[in-house]
Amino acid sequence: MTMPQSGIKVVIVGAGFGGLTAAIECHRQGHDVRVYESFPELKTLGDIISFGANAGRIYHRWSEGRVVQRLRELCIDLSSYGFRIHKYDTGEVVYHQRNPPGDPKAPVLNGHRGELHQVVFNYARDELGIPIHLGQPVGEYFEDEEQAGIVLQNGERVLADLVIGADGVRSKARELVLGYVDKPKSSGYAVWRAWFSNTDMIQDPRTREFCAHGDSFNGWIGPDVHFLFSTIKGGQDCCWVLTHRDEHDIDESWSFPGRLEDVYRVLEGWDPICRAIVEKTPSLVDWKLVYRDPLSTWVSRHARILLLGDAAHPFLPTSAQGATQAMEDGVTIAVCLKRAGKANVPAAVRVHQEIRYDRVGEVQKTGETTRDRWHKTDWETVAKDPKSIAFPREDWIHAHDAEKHANETFDELFKKVTQPELFENVKLRPIGPIGVTVG
Ligand SMILES: Cc1cc2nc3c(=O)[nH]c(=O)nc-3n(C[C@H](O)[C@H](O)[C@H](O)COP(=O)(O)OP(=O)(O)OC[C@H]3O[C@@H](n4cnc5c(N)ncnc54)[C@H](O)[C@@H]3O)c2cc1C
Repeated sequence: MTMPQSGIKVVIVGAGFGGLTAAIECHRQGHDVRVYESFPELKTLGDIISFGANAGRIYHRWSEGRVVQRLRELCIDLSSYGFRIHKYDTGEVVYHQRNPPGDPKAPVLNGHRGELHQVVFNYARDELGIPIHLGQPVGEYFEDEEQAGIVLQNGERVLADLVIGADGVRSKARELVLGYVDKPKSSGYAVWRAWFSNTDMIQDPRTREFCAHGDSFNGWIGPDVHFLFSTIKGGQDCCWVLTHRDEHDIDESWSFPGRLEDVYRVLEGWDPICRAIVEKTPSLVDWKLVYRDPLSTWVSRHARILLLGDAAHPFLPTSAQGATQAMEDGVTIAVCLKRAGKANVPAAVRVHQEIRYDRVGEVQKTGETTRDRWHKTDWETVAKDPKSIAFPREDWIHAHDAEKHANETFDELFKKVTQPELFENVKLRPIGPIGVTVG
């Protein structure tokens, strides 16, 4: 259901999961939204991506569950298999984590990033009619107290009440709007990742079981390494991700073709089934995991340009929450704009930041805590308490309803932002610019 029109014009830069969700949610809340994306055509790139129940709840509201239905068909179904966690060397299953019954209105969705992205993209563009302009790399932003805008490559200036920079981890908006030219820092880890069809897996009796009875999900946990392997679409597609130590310089590029010999070296002494899986891989990617120090603000000087998703807060994959948190951002700004109205766009943007900042920071930390917990596993503890090695599914993350939360917290925060003098010791997050001036 789309709300009455608000008259608020929103321009979004970037059509990743963050930008598209912001666009769809702005449309739902009655704002006039358009998207500018640098890639010239949609390609089904990448491999596995996970969306927690807190994203499923957002997806479910789109056309009364119809989008979820389409996504589900492409996603892994672990209702009977669960997640089996193995000790890296003996291969024994130390914990079988069953899937909780799950709320049909907040499904967990794990599937191929490119395929899921295509569903969301097509929904936004073809079904809702949101204008998405491809082949438009945005290199200039401007704002004053009344409006904001972007400059396209042909020199055209596009005006709006709010510009959202959802241009990903290498955000140009971050640099232009806030003056941060921060280089990514190595996290000390990298992942090898692969996605391939099950043809060779089915033929090998050692690996057949993972594909022959539908979807499966297994993890092997070792010292400073973890290897996750899943089969999807009824066991038809296979995907593995191996996280390991890596201190390489990441100045130039973060993603390279990987080499199987390097993977075999890391897997020496491991359960031989891991190598049997890896041997079936036609090609793999070596992805350096980088992070950035948290930005002190996501908001421009006149609060008419907002950073969203990875542009504001990159995530490590071990949190499995990067795209989900980008989606929560999109929901929140759309609600704040609706509640504040066209006359109060900058206040809406500041309220958004107040609502989102601390939560995002806490969720970001789980990327490191989950990894460290696995990589420093004390096997005696696991023997006594197998559940201690489970993949954490914490309620404070997954039960969160971003739309409800934004609506419930809006009034108080709006007052704090617009009338701070009414409160004692109000501490609001700062706004930019920290470096350059735009406009
Ligand atoms: C290896 C790896 C695995 C991950 N696994 C998971 C996972 O399982 N679950 C999860 O939730 N998250 C995962 N993440 C994180 C997740 O992918 C991101 O958090 C999420 O995709 C962020 O979405 P976004 O829309 O903010 O940015 P992006 O998806 O990066 O989208 C940004 C978009 O902006 C466009 N763009 C860039 N510059 C410009 C410009 N100047 N002008 C116009 N357009 C521009 C880009 O082309 C792109 O389409 C993983 C990340 C990595 C690195």
